[in-house]
Amino acid sequence: MWKLALEDALYTLERQWEAAIEAVKDLVARHEGFVEEEKHYAFWLLYRPRKGSRDWRRIQAIFTGEDVKGQNIDLDASGRSRVRKYLKRVFRRVLGGRPRVRQARSFALDPQMYRVFSTGKRQYIAVATLTPGERAVIPLAGVHAISGNLRIVLLPDERAVEIHISLDPQVYPPGEGEVGIDLGVTEVFTDDTGRKYRSEYGEALREMSDYILDKGRKRQKLWALYRRNREEDPARARRIRRHNLGFAKQHRKHGKYRRRCENEINRAFNELFKTRRPGVIAYEDLSHLRGKAKSRGLSRKVSLWMRRITKERLEYKSCIYSVADLGPVNAAYASQECPVCHWVDPQNRNGDVFKCRKCGFTGDADQVNAVNVKGRLHDEEITRYTPYRKVKEILLRRYYEKDAV
Ligand SMILES: [Zn+2]
Repeated sequence: MWKLALEDALYTLERQWEAAIEAVKDLVARHEGFVEEEKHYAFWLLYRPRKGSRDWRRIQAIFTGEDVKGQNIDLDASGRSRVRKYLKRVFRRVLGGRPRVRQARSFALDPQMYRVFSTGKRQYIAVATLTPGERAVIPLAGVHAISGNLRIVLLPDERAVEIHISLDPQVYPPGEGEVGIDLGVTEVFTDDTGRKYRSEYGEALREMSDYILDKGRKRQKLWALYRRNREEDPARARRIRRHNLGFAKQHRKHGKYRRRCENEINRAFNELFKTRRPGVIAYEDLSHLRGKAKSRGLSRKVSLWMRRITKERLEYKSCIYSVADLGPVNAAYASQECPVCHWVDPQNRNGDVFKCRKCGFTGDADQVNAVNVKGRLHDEEITRYTPYRKVKEILLRRYYEKDAV
């Protein structure tokens, strides 16, 4: 029992710290008082590798005043100390003085710690207590098959508990290997091997977008007609409002298009997870929409909707397929970088074709993007928070350094 309790406590603590670190990262990204190099150092301190565990000494150093320094960080000791002091302040704010754990409202039980029995119609659970041989017996409100690890939740202000059984959808063991994907508008996405998933998607999206644009224009005309008639012929205006400007039919129609697109997105992810069983998936961080956000010719409403749904589906499926640590990565310049010689140039990409201006490498533009996005998973220098322009500097510097060697 103490092992489980300790594990539970450590898990809670670690989660609390990871959440705080995420919050601090956001604050650092928005902090305007730092020069690039100071930001770089701050992110280095907060960095956690995709594989393996965090180097907690870096976090510790923020609080102990000990000096730690990584490679490639061009900042003197007093600069580093300034950054750590800032982080310490921000952590204090985020954590609220010092980390606090509220009184436990729930605890975990493994199958050895409880027994379920019933008398007549009523079901009971007997839970082991800290006194050897003594059990707490709780009558249950319903009858249910109870097995596996449970969580007992103490309800506030009630002399009652809830028993949580995990009835997760079937969860698959984690896969291996890393996959990069490039979200598209003709297919749902292309992976780093160049495979295109669901090329029927483009047509479905286009139809939905055309429908919405066309309807929008027609409705605008009807609204104008309605406004003109409001004074002269109020009865007619009312008729237009009721029969031509309602939402019921529009909703039904939209639903039909929406479901078709969602189906394609679902199928695409199913195919990806079944065929490649990835352990990690790298994809463009969609929280800052840029570049492809204004997808060629698609209505804005449709492209925003599409991104939201795709992200949601990806997160859900990743959970079921035990994909470790989702990989939203900084995809700046990923479509312009040559995967062979790493030269970065907007002219490397021409529509669907990638052709490197330096080494002549030719390939599918979406695949190139997926490969580069995958590479960013382990990039300690280009993180999600590295500013757009800085990314180009880093990439070009690497290109020239490689040449010099
Ligand atoms: Zn090249």
